[in-house]
Amino acid sequence: MEIQGIQGSKLQKYLYQVPLWLSFYSVRPRSHQFANLPLLTFLAELSLAWKGSPIGLGDVSLENGTAPPTHHTHVYGSCVDLYVFHKRGLRRSGNDNNVVTMHDDKETIYDQPQTIRLATTIKQVVADRGYNLVQFLFDDPAVSKTWTKITQSKHRPHLDHFHIQIHEQYRDKGKEADRLQQAMIQQRCGF
Ligand SMILES: [Zn+2]
Repeated sequence: MEIQGIQGSKLQKYLYQVPLWLSFYSVRPRSHQFANLPLLTFLAELSLAWKGSPIGLGDVSLENGTAPPTHHTHVYGSCVDLYVFHKRGLRRSGNDNNVVTMHDDKETIYDQPQTIRLATTIKQVVADRGYNLVQFLFDDPAVSKTWTKITQSKHRPHLDHFHIQIHEQYRDKGKEADRLQQAMIQQRCGF
């Protein structure tokens, strides 16, 4: 599997289809899952750091950098949706099958502990690797308390997924080349 690079329409940025690394399975159409380099490497590092059930990968951007339908903020490949976990490990498919929200029963459907753990892992990857996290949206207060000021869902509720936006620029530019190389190696290894 090779990295597929294509140019975004407006900012002339290269976007890459997010590979389904070990830790991810696809919930949304693959044509909706094109990320810019910082988001791609963030997802690669999250995939390596995560020890748990497979994570449902949602919409990113279309290959020309525009937003998938109904996701107007998902432009230029800098936003991604990650779905919360089902208690019995069932995988979500689209918006109809095995949907889990924060309001579902915590004993049988909503796996809150694992969802909290994913938020904590994301926070750790962001901190360790110097990503510039712009947004983290999810409404469950038990998860949101992991964060100090980034978590806010003012516009519309985020009940079944994390909405994550990574800034186009790393805080730590020195590691940018390492990240690209790492992402390429992971691809060649079939992650
Ligand atoms: Zn989103």
